[in-house]
Amino acid sequence: MEAKELMEKAVRFHGHICPGLAIGVLAAKYALEHEFEHSPNEEIVAVVENDNCSIDALQAILGTTYGKGNLIHHDYGKMNYYFYNRRTEKAVRLALKKSEFSNKMLSKDEKVQLLLNSKPEDIFNIYDIEYNPPGLAQIEESVPCEICGELTMSSRLMTYNDSEMCISCYKKTRG
Ligand SMILES: [Zn+2]
Ligand SMILES: [Zn+2]
Repeated sequence: MEAKELMEKAVRFHGHICPGLAIGVLAAKYALEHEFEHSPNEEIVAVVENDNCSIDALQAILGTTYGKGNLIHHDYGKMNYYFYNRRTEKAVRLALKKSEFSNKMLSKDEKVQLLLNSKPEDIFNIYDIEYNPPGLAQIEESVPCEICGELTMSSRLMTYNDSEMCISCYKKTRG
């Protein structure tokens, strides 16, 4: 699919047109063209190092979503994208580089147009990497917090004063 068609799909999900989304579209386009197909389950995992608009393009186009657990965010503030294919064990890393579109003189619209007319290779440094994906999303039991009674994933319970409590109650109790 052309970048412009992918962009339309991403905009329907994201809500507006912006350069960040166009960057994510190009990352997703590269993935689709290199054996990472849309992922209804957890076949593809995306690991990202930022939480800006670009991530919505991955969710809309690749099906790597926060809710399914096949979108992992590291808060490093870097425009880096890792894709892992659990079926083929292929892995790739895309790192945004400084290029024409980062010119501050360009308007938002000009940036979007420039990006959509670029190839992923124009804006990213791209590396084949070792296949070492994050583990599959875990399904675990939820138990009531002993303080507020709300259901809480058992691995997130904190023990304090002989009570098992959720993180919000733990923070309140400790002041
Ligand atoms: Zn946006
Ligand atoms: Zn609680």
